[in-house]
Amino acid sequence: MHRPEKIVLASGNAAKICEIEDLFKSVQVEIVAQTELGISSVEETGQTFIENALLKARHAAESCGLPAMADDSGIAVDALDGNPGVRSARFAGIDASDEENLDLLLEIMAGVDDPKRGCGFHCAAVLVFAEDDRPPIVVESVWRGQLLRARRGDGGFGYDPIFLDLESNKTGAEMSREEKNTISHRGQAFRELRQQFLGMAG
Ligand code: IMP
Repeated sequence: MHRPEKIVLASGNAAKICEIEDLFKSVQVEIVAQTELGISSVEETGQTFIENALLKARHAAESCGLPAMADDSGIAVDALDGNPGVRSARFAGIDASDEENLDLLLEIMAGVDDPKRGCGFHCAAVLVFAEDDRPPIVVESVWRGQLLRARRGDGGFGYDPIFLDLESNKTGAEMSREEKNTISHRGQAFRELRQQFLGMAG
């Protein structure tokens, strides 16, 4: 199996694209965002992060004939039985902004005591090949943390300002992109995916 020279990244989220491009900096492969190729995003109808990541990647690969990489991610809150999970991006409604989603989560969690505010960012990362006979590379990782009661920091995106990493005592929004990539769900998942990609014959 030969390692591809060009991969399409099936995401329209600029912050995520930057994080993923950083993780592949040292790898000899050209990464093109699907928006640059005029590929639209697909409806995320899957019940799991892996299903949704595969849906996004397969749609991009079928649209342009290139291998495609995608991720699906979200926050799973222990006290909410893992919700909002795969619905994280549309928690407050189909076109909800990051701010609206975060505010709704703060509101729902307002009465929950500190010991019960555990949560995890999940990320499924996949690489699919345009040829049908190649199995996809599929990885899933989790970054555990604690939900705060108010925002801290102004970096990152999504739920970062209320996600506290207990080891560093910083929220995702108080970390540099590099620092976040070192420990985050997406960082872990794409590093593993990168390893498996490099394991393919060059
Ligand atoms: P996706 O683009 O379908 O994977 O949706 C992911 C959603 O989960 C985003 O809209 C964010 O709300 C949330 N999310 C995923 N990863 C992160 C992260 O690293 N920081 C903050 N929020 C995240």
